[in-house]
Amino acid sequence: DGAHQTHEYQSDVARLRKIVINSLYSHRDVFLRELLSNANDALEKLRITALTDKSLVSPDEPLNITIQLLPASGSGAGRVVIADTGIGMTPDELTQNLGTLAKSGTSDFLVQAESAGAQQAGNLIGQFGLGFYSSFLVADHVEVASVPAGGNGEQWVFASGAEDQRFEVFPDPRGRTMRHGTEITLLLREDAKEFLNPGKVKELVDKHSGFSTSFPIYLQTFKTEEVPDEDSPVPADPLEADAIDTSPPVDDSEAIVEDLPEDASPITPPPPRTKNVTRETWEQLNDQPPLWTRDAKTVSEAEYTDFYKSTFRDTAAPLAHAHFAGDAGSSVSFKSVLFIPSELPSEFWSTTQARVEGVRLMVKRVFITNDLGEDALPKWISWLRAIVDADDLPLNVSREQLQSTKFLAQIKSILVKRAINLLTKVASAPASINEETGEEEGQTQYRAVWKAIGSAIKLGAMEGSAGQKNKLGALTRWTTNVREFVGLDDYVDNRKKGQRQIFYLAGVGQKAEDLAKSVFIEKLHARGYEVLLLTEPMDEILLNNFQRWGGMAFQDVAKKGLQYGDEDMDAEADKAEQAGIAERFAPLLSWLKKEYTGTVMDVVISNRLVTSPCAIVADRYGYSANMERLVAAQQR
Ligand code: ADP
Ligand code: MG
Repeated sequence: DGAHQTHEYQSDVARLRKIVINSLYSHRDVFLRELLSNANDALEKLRITALTDKSLVSPDEPLNITIQLLPASGSGAGRVVIADTGIGMTPDELTQNLGTLAKSGTSDFLVQAESAGAQQAGNLIGQFGLGFYSSFLVADHVEVASVPAGGNGEQWVFASGAEDQRFEVFPDPRGRTMRHGTEITLLLREDAKEFLNPGKVKELVDKHSGFSTSFPIYLQTFKTEEVPDEDSPVPADPLEADAIDTSPPVDDSEAIVEDLPEDASPITPPPPRTKNVTRETWEQLNDQPPLWTRDAKTVSEAEYTDFYKSTFRDTAAPLAHAHFAGDAGSSVSFKSVLFIPSELPSEFWSTTQARVEGVRLMVKRVFITNDLGEDALPKWISWLRAIVDADDLPLNVSREQLQSTKFLAQIKSILVKRAINLLTKVASAPASINEETGEEEGQTQYRAVWKAIGSAIKLGAMEGSAGQKNKLGALTRWTTNVREFVGLDDYVDNRKKGQRQIFYLAGVGQKAEDLAKSVFIEKLHARGYEVLLLTEPMDEILLNNFQRWGGMAFQDVAKKGLQYGDEDMDAEADKAEQAGIAERFAPLLSWLKKEYTGTVMDVVISNRLVTSPCAIVADRYGYSANMERLVAAQQR
């Protein structure tokens, strides 16, 4: 056959298939999610294209996905056939899309996956979405038949074995079986027979694909029932699976195939004559309305988690979510669910420009884009994951149109506001009692949030608008010499009588427990004052930005200007004692001043030390030692 083509795989593809097959055995369920997501993409593409060219679709060919599970009738482990009525592929596209790696991200994947273990590779496949090759996790051999929409072309097939160095592309010997779309046949590996089990397939679709697929997914199932037999036909061979009609569904169709009578023994008379009838039915797997359109009260935590994982391709559960309907200005109403992920994107700190891919914009339930432009969200909150479904935008709205309308700007500010509200709600949740240990668990959820995105919250407290700054400042948590996980409001509430300053000590890169032992804290600690221990580079800048919190000024305890606030209480006694000390140490003081001229600005008698004989402090308006280290590090 002259049309039959044999192609070498590119070397990258060979490497990729090897990684996928070898390192992802325990994640092989992903094949179904990946193939369904490709089918969904192909249907989306067709629908979008058909908005301008109606001739591409016809009512006789509904846009849907079908799954058939076909046990082996002879040798082999059986087949799984996944078909969509989407945009389809030309022979060239079969070669290009399935035989080469066009995507730039894939080479990054290769580098990362080869150095990562199997567990990480499993997470990576989710992030990079290496879809089609995951077929080889469960199949020895894969055939992809496809017809592009709109063309009058032939139906072609891409075929490859899991171990092959080459793949074949040839005209389908069956001729054209589809109007448009793609049919993927997986010849299952011996150890992958579990995927012939309809229960297993339903479970996987529910968990990973049901939420994110906007077209109906039908599973072909066979039910055998006993029915009265009126005219006792010549029985068909029950073992011949091929006798069953396996054509795709025309909405809720039922084909009936007749079977052997159950008991055909000649000895027992068969008075009530019955026969077994195998009904082929198409069951829709994703018949729930999209999660974000449902009433929040009817959605379980597990459903939110599954939805998040499958929509945003994360292997970890989100830390919190908010589900709401809103009005952007007065013009556009929308529904939204937003999520706090369990960690910051890996490139969060390495780029200055926010790369926001986590906001998925839908119009009337149809996915439009997750690329809302570079400034889609402020950098500090670019980790946010959200679905936004607008009710009254046109389906074929373009990105340019979106940007020119006020809609995006409004959505953006609503999302940020809602996200801050969500954080605040989680942060103010009352302590709960752990039912297993009986111990009080203060703020378990907010602790996890703080651990994951605390540094981004600090960034927001510096870069956000004035209103946001205060809300985000209230969300920051600190370690002190006496407690951990202390909020600024909490610090202020816990102040000692007369205390007018919020004390802090900064030591970037040091451990809080070591800072707590510093000489600068001795006396404060002895007198029962709390001191914030700053260990991250941003911390001091952040507090200096605020200047005051709850009416109290921030005071670096390693600088001049420290006021205890309880001096007044024993003022008289103190004064006398101070005078005595001043007199006694006057000679030492003048000697030290002379000796260290040019090295220090001043030498004073201090009342801030308990056991240490002396301390070197920074001038009130000078850099703290910590800031000096930071500045020096930047100038290097
Ligand atoms: P991705 O989906 O991330 O692009 P895949 O490996 O899953 O990567 O798929 C590669 C390409 O093959 C797709 O981009 C698409 O062009 C094509 N493709 C895969 N499955 C289908 C399908 N069912 N219908 C049409 N094209 C498909
Ligand atoms: Mg894909």
